[in-house]
Amino acid sequence: MERRWVRGGIIGKGSFGTVSLAVDRSNGTIFAVKSIKLNSSPPRAIAALENEIRLLSSLNSPHVVSYLGDDVTEEPDGLWRNLLLEYLPGGSAADLAATGKMMEADVRSCARSIAQALQFLHTTAGVVHGDVKGRNVILESPTGMAKLADFGTASKGMGEATRGAGTPLWMAPEVARGEPATPASDVWSLGCTVIEMLSGGRQPWEKSGIADVRDPPVQMFRIGFREVLPEFPPWLSKTGQDFLDKCIRRDPRKRWTCEQLLQHSFLADSPEPSPRSVFELGKLEREYEDDEDGAAESFTEKEDCAVELARERIRELGSSEVEWRRDGWEEVRSAGGKKTSGVGDSNGRFILT
Ligand code: ATP
Repeated sequence: MERRWVRGGIIGKGSFGTVSLAVDRSNGTIFAVKSIKLNSSPPRAIAALENEIRLLSSLNSPHVVSYLGDDVTEEPDGLWRNLLLEYLPGGSAADLAATGKMMEADVRSCARSIAQALQFLHTTAGVVHGDVKGRNVILESPTGMAKLADFGTASKGMGEATRGAGTPLWMAPEVARGEPATPASDVWSLGCTVIEMLSGGRQPWEKSGIADVRDPPVQMFRIGFREVLPEFPPWLSKTGQDFLDKCIRRDPRKRWTCEQLLQHSFLADSPEPSPRSVFELGKLEREYEDDEDGAAESFTEKEDCAVELARERIRELGSSEVEWRRDGWEEVRSAGGKKTSGVGDSNGRFILT
């Protein structure tokens, strides 16, 4: 049956699309809608959303953002492909970390939710996420359950993963070298996400200078081929350091599985999400020392060649430009369906007419 809903203000923007608030006209339910414009988006972006729709519609876990449907809508500016998702109002873990209000206890409970999501994906669903990072972890509330989102680069079954996809600074070395993502590479990215959350939302690899390079192919080359590890926050407890050591190992065969990680005391003894915790948090102390040795090293010809290959791989993945849409509620109609009469205001409030 035709689904009619009204699009609201933009709540997030990723490389492949925009995420807006939406309301179901028949019952007033609020949900999130991830959309890309069919006429002008790069084929790679459309393929990523189709991939996400296909995978998410087959998943059912309290630790993964829920699929509510998908459709194509005809709007004043063209045809849109939409993925309808449960709305999680707490923002992303990256947003929360950037406020400086995530302490180790909060990071542990968030990391446990991510590990539970990954355990479900790896063992029950046979899915590799491929892009675990703070921006792709969404919270029910600033203190509530965390859920894994953004399945644009996820893959099901061996050999299906897009090579070199993901976000360079969270990428496992073997993925940075062009191998497909695996459950073990998701575990590396989980470790990087824990570093990100503990460091006020900063990217991993800050002290090594790799994050400063700002050129993804160079970042990928260094992560892939140098015998280095991202720095663990020095203020982290011994248990936390040990947990990171189990995730962040260059040899993927030596990393723990999510099943094992969930038994680690960093996760097993972590507090349940509590409605109080964030409001009691003190400011996270960050003690980054200036890295005098962090200056970029010059590249040999061989390195330049490998960087060029990585650059080529990024080009193959295609441009990921998306178009900004204006805020406020808009009329939406399903392609081929009747026009609805929902309107909204520019503050994100909705008014059904
Ligand atoms: P990426 O650049 O990571 O590939 P993307 O285009 O795939 O991004 P998402 O990462 O899925 O898009 O979403 C972008 C942002 O939108 C998220 O960081 C989050 O802030 C917000 N968002 C996504 N889904 C939801 C949701 N279900 N509820 C609330 N906010 C959401």
